[in-house]
Amino acid sequence: MLDYNDDVKARTEHLYPKVKTVISPLEWQLKAPLIDAILTLKKERDAVILAHNYMTPDIFHGVADYVGDSLGLARQAALSNASMIIQGGVHFMAETSKILAPEKTVLIPDLMAGCSLASSITADDVRRIKGQYPGLPVVTYVNTSADVKAETDICCTSSNAVTVVEWAAREWGVERVIVIPDEFLAANIARQTHIGIITWKGACEVHEQFTKQDLLDARASYPGAIILAHPECPPEVIEESDFTGSTAAMIDYVAINKPQKVIMVTECSMADNVAEQSPQTEFLKPCNLCPHMKRITLEGIHRSLEMKTFEITVPEAIIKKAVLAVQRMIDLPPSKVPARYDMVKAKTPVNLEYIS
Ligand code: 13P
Ligand code: SF4
Repeated sequence: MLDYNDDVKARTEHLYPKVKTVISPLEWQLKAPLIDAILTLKKERDAVILAHNYMTPDIFHGVADYVGDSLGLARQAALSNASMIIQGGVHFMAETSKILAPEKTVLIPDLMAGCSLASSITADDVRRIKGQYPGLPVVTYVNTSADVKAETDICCTSSNAVTVVEWAAREWGVERVIVIPDEFLAANIARQTHIGIITWKGACEVHEQFTKQDLLDARASYPGAIILAHPECPPEVIEESDFTGSTAAMIDYVAINKPQKVIMVTECSMADNVAEQSPQTEFLKPCNLCPHMKRITLEGIHRSLEMKTFEITVPEAIIKKAVLAVQRMIDLPPSKVPARYDMVKAKTPVNLEYIS
């Protein structure tokens, strides 16, 4: 049993100001001993905790060594000197870490932390698609399994998707690119480039729920609020927003522009995590919870470190192929995430086709 004693209090009290707007003092007394134990175990195990921006604030501010979007976490997995990675995120993120750092032990606190996009497509599907569209490059969203990545030419994330698509079209000398498996990300890319996009009917179960009406209602309820929406949302939602970008780009937008009122049309923990660094900003709803991300808890991370569970393994042959697609993406220069208005003006009509 872990106690909130004077030693724990002294070792953790510097962390509380970062979460005090979302964690009550009483709740903190329950969390602090676990946080303290995790911080000690992390050192003993030579482990780093890579936490996605959708992790709850106790993980994000309490125990993470690195926080970021999918691209940032992948970069960090490759750079880290630690011998063990604890993935504060979902299964495809842990597999990406393993692909980039095969010599490290990669652990995920809950094996059921999946993703509706990753489960929407298999390696067989990709092989069939390649047969259907010979000669066209396959760009795969990083939210896919290692098997799927192994069948593709280059990965992308929400922070570099347009750059990757345009790079692939140039390298292959073609005017159309296959972008799978997120139909909404693909449709949003198609609005920002002259390259034709061929896509798959996968969707994020969290972002597909947002509607244009949600945003219209929010604007009516909170006049003057700035609306930031993740590019996994349907295009009509993005069109109603003021800015679209990866989770990290949204956080940067708030930090740089310091808006008075913000609506982050994405997972709910984002606003909780940013609140500390942006006290001037009021965060308003709507937001949705990702049930997969929420499987990762302080208790699970503690268990992971103690028991070395659950280890992510990827067959060597798959790593060899998948790493080419992931590394190609990482090696591209970082792209600027554009504001939505510039891009909508830049491209009409939209050249988008669905794989049958
Ligand atoms: P980011 O790469 O923008 O962090 O997105 C990952 C994700 O799963 C969003 O649903
Ligand atoms: Fe997957 Fe959507 Fe959850 Fe992100 S928010 S992990 S895309 S289900």
